[in-house]
Amino acid sequence: MGSRIRARYSPGVGRKRVVIAGLGDSGVLAAIKLGRHADVVGISAKPALVSGQELGLRISRPNDWMRDNWISFDRFHGLDRVRTVHGALTGVDLDARNVFVQRNDGSSLTEPYDALVISTGVTNGFWRRPNLQFADEIGAGLQAAHDRLAEAESVIVVGGGAAAVSSAANIAITWPAKRVDLYFPGERGLPRHHPRTWARIRQRLIEVGVGLHPGHRAVLPDDFAYDEITGDPVQWSTGQPPASADAVLWAIGRVRPNTGWLPRELLDEHGFVRVTPELRVPDHPGVFAVGDVAATDPLRSSARNRADGLVAHNVRAEFEGRPLRSFRPPKQRWGSIIGIQADGLEVFAPNGRAFRFPAWSIDRVLMPWVVRRGIYRGVRDEA
Ligand SMILES: Cc1cc2nc3c(=O)[nH]c(=O)nc-3n(C[C@H](O)[C@H](O)[C@H](O)COP(=O)(O)OP(=O)(O)OC[C@H]3O[C@@H](n4cnc5c(N)ncnc54)[C@H](O)[C@@H]3O)c2cc1C
Repeated sequence: MGSRIRARYSPGVGRKRVVIAGLGDSGVLAAIKLGRHADVVGISAKPALVSGQELGLRISRPNDWMRDNWISFDRFHGLDRVRTVHGALTGVDLDARNVFVQRNDGSSLTEPYDALVISTGVTNGFWRRPNLQFADEIGAGLQAAHDRLAEAESVIVVGGGAAAVSSAANIAITWPAKRVDLYFPGERGLPRHHPRTWARIRQRLIEVGVGLHPGHRAVLPDDFAYDEITGDPVQWSTGQPPASADAVLWAIGRVRPNTGWLPRELLDEHGFVRVTPELRVPDHPGVFAVGDVAATDPLRSSARNRADGLVAHNVRAEFEGRPLRSFRPPKQRWGSIIGIQADGLEVFAPNGRAFRFPAWSIDRVLMPWVVRRGIYRGVRDEA
């Protein structure tokens, strides 16, 4: 079972071929948008969209998380026209316009392209890994992290970004009897969000009983990969005594781009893919990048700012000799922080103002109409 061709996938004679490298949040959406206009092949290390979003929900209520964040490719109507290959990209020949793939059965494959969209994302902690995985391994990983936290009486979360804050909040909400402490280096958490967002989230963390510890910068041993939940005391380079808990969750934003399969000439000094405002890779016509792997702006925000539509437009525009559009990112992070809760979903705008979807609207309006129909253009129910 290497690649799967759906009933409606029929390669068109003379149609352009687009390879989407990495079918995560951005890749799936770009593939859906291009599927009607080109012969699209999506290459994915996972057999499904396994989103890197909503870490807090994922570790504390994995069944709720799975419903909206782990969706097999055959459930997307928009991917019916797309051929998906379950395998890991191992290289690219930019002159011959081929990518090389190791399939899930160990065999090798060469996929030619007219346009290549690089959307292989980043590696982050235990929850975003680029390795080839089958569904049972993904499920086992989810369960193991959840069980580890469930049995702990006390939890330390290290980090001050959205993943850390969301984890601390959701652990405290799910298991009110646990001691949960959040340690972060700055005076405030969410340093890349608007101060108003932090003010609101800080209040929420206090309400659910999370202990807040600003000014704590953890000592990070060189040989430590930060990709597991640990149990040793945490040392602070900022001078405080070590802190201990049954489980320590590291969400310190040490993201690493999944670009080991690409030549250095495509990458910036940090290993991310260099792009123009049109999301084109300079000097390589037909090659684009989008999502967390693309060095678009300091926050590398093209995934959350929905540049999947822009990259799909620009791929087609380049084929047809039409003008390309530019990506214009907001200066501050925005979005949901702690995910769907019993009282609804709060989404923060770049100016820090919160918009709340009330609880009744989540299953009746937001998920079926805005997300599944509007964003993903139709998702089948699970078999
Ligand atoms: C609709 C939407 C809503 C969002 N909402 C929010 C929000 O509210 N708040 C917020 O903070 N952020 C939000 N985000 C952004 C989110 O936090 C991340 O930026 C996003 O998950 C990154 O997507 P990506 O496609 O770049 O990477 P990923 O989703 O990580 O996808 C990369 C994929 O490539 C695969 N891959 C890697 N290497 C290889 C290889 N060699 N071979 C094959 N496959 C490989 C990986 O396994 C993975 O499946 C949103 C994004 C979207 C699209």
